[in-house]
Amino acid sequence: MEQTVLEIRDVSKTYGTVSALRNVSLDVSAGEVVVIIGPSGSGKSTLCRCVNRLETIDSGAVLFRGAPVPEEGRALAAVRSQMSMVFQSFNLFGNKTVLENVTLAPRRVKKIPRVHAEEQARQLLARVGVAEHAHKLPSQLSGGQQQRVAIARALAMEPALMLFDEPTSALDPEMIEEVLQVMSELACSGVTMLVVTHEMGFARNLASRIVFMADGEVVEEAPPAQFFSNPATERARQFLSKVRTH
Ligand code: ADP
Ligand code: MG
Repeated sequence: MEQTVLEIRDVSKTYGTVSALRNVSLDVSAGEVVVIIGPSGSGKSTLCRCVNRLETIDSGAVLFRGAPVPEEGRALAAVRSQMSMVFQSFNLFGNKTVLENVTLAPRRVKKIPRVHAEEQARQLLARVGVAEHAHKLPSQLSGGQQQRVAIARALAMEPALMLFDEPTSALDPEMIEEVLQVMSELACSGVTMLVVTHEMGFARNLASRIVFMADGEVVEEAPPAQFFSNPATERARQFLSKVRTH
């Protein structure tokens, strides 16, 4: 039976007078790659941040593995460690080596002994193709390499869900592909992913489902083949006519 990892139920969120999310509902099952697309300002980042409570929600509920995401404290930290987030801006610790960046959370949160954490980290760094940079500081790496380290760091916690918020948007074109390749490999190996991206090739080829958002709402949800060839709404048709879909 399919196991639901994440349930977003009727979530609304306002910033002052701006309605960033309006009754958004969305499920992610184990092994699924759910891709959120939509114009800038449609609430995609807000939704990601509400999932791991970097933002509070005004109403609705977010359930992770069947239980509400705790509001604060150690319980929240424990859930967050199970839903690693990869941001546009890498967010690596600049004063720590690549290896330290990847081993930090497993050692501190999971209390994994250093040798084991380092062994696992080296395997993950090899998986994302940056093994030879383990001893360097993030600033000595390209943007694409840093983002792959960030992905390795997220994987090190063996999360039940990985959240990606436009992981390639800050990268030079020649580095986008190397990050997408790593994400594709994860998608194909069964990692459960919720991905916000403008990379339509990834969405088309790797998504289990496309969620199209506009103006704080989920406007349309469909398998990629259907969404890209025959979107149900005028809003999605307009959006697709403005973006490169290959
Ligand atoms: P997207 O990621 O789809 O571009 P966002 O979730 O960043 O959209 O933003 C949704 C809406 O919420 C936008 O109108 C944005 O200006 C507003 N917004 C997002 N974050 C904040 C904030 N911290 N304070 C005020 N308004 C915000
Ligand atoms: Mg955003």
